[in-house]
Amino acid sequence: MYDIAIIGAGPAGASAAIFAAKAGKKTIVFENNKGMTRRAWFENHYGIEQMGGPELVDTGKRQAEKFGAEIKEATVQNITESEGGLLLETDGGSFQAKYVLFATGASVDLAERIGLATRPGTEPRIKTVIDADAAGKTSQAGIWAAGTVAGVSVHSIITAGDGAKAAINIISEMNGERYVDHDVLKA
Ligand SMILES: Cc1cc2nc3c(=O)[nH]c(=O)nc-3n(C[C@H](O)[C@H](O)[C@H](O)COP(=O)(O)OP(=O)(O)OC[C@H]3O[C@@H](n4cnc5c(N)ncnc54)[C@H](O)[C@@H]3O)c2cc1C
Repeated sequence: MYDIAIIGAGPAGASAAIFAAKAGKKTIVFENNKGMTRRAWFENHYGIEQMGGPELVDTGKRQAEKFGAEIKEATVQNITESEGGLLLETDGGSFQAKYVLFATGASVDLAERIGLATRPGTEPRIKTVIDADAAGKTSQAGIWAAGTVAGVSVHSIITAGDGAKAAINIISEMNGERYVDHDVLKA
């Protein structure tokens, strides 16, 4: 049983995975290489003068793996309730997790299939998004959403931050107290 299963390894999903795995949560990330970020060129990302999308995405995945997140290339096809958590059915097997975070970018196919509440998107070309609250919670218990699919933005700096926000909120709920991750510069 995973603590957190994240669907999507773009800026939102990988950023969430970095926080979740670094917090010691057993974390798995699913991706099917259909994200939009690989096609982007970045010159507006704080801390990065310029970078291609493939390098940004691959760096984010490596960071998450460094802290112990498992990254699995597979498409999540269905999510159902199971004893003590949620069952994710993929084209690469089935996996159980206590929490699921949608970070699926422009894709709401899976969200609609499992009956998550949606609402119209406000960003250009994003017609529908998951109806998540300010914390990232969706209409189904244990299922959260972050990034473009949660309607926050189509800018990477914001979607990455939103993934981090949702992960910190999930970690805090699991721990029963507010979670903070601060490393200190070594002298
Ligand atoms: C051509 C282009 C140029 C851009 N230029 C910029 C720019 O200059 N600056 C900027 O800030 N933003 C830019 N963007 C936008 C930016 O890439 C996105 O707004 C943002 O990064 C989205 O992040 P995300 O993590 O929410 O989604 P994505 O990066 O789209 O990631 C979604 C992930 O979900 C996975 N996924 C979806 N469904 C499933 C499923 N069922 N099972 C498994 N995996 C699934 C995909 O494989 C992918 O890993 C650009 C976008 C495009 C297309």
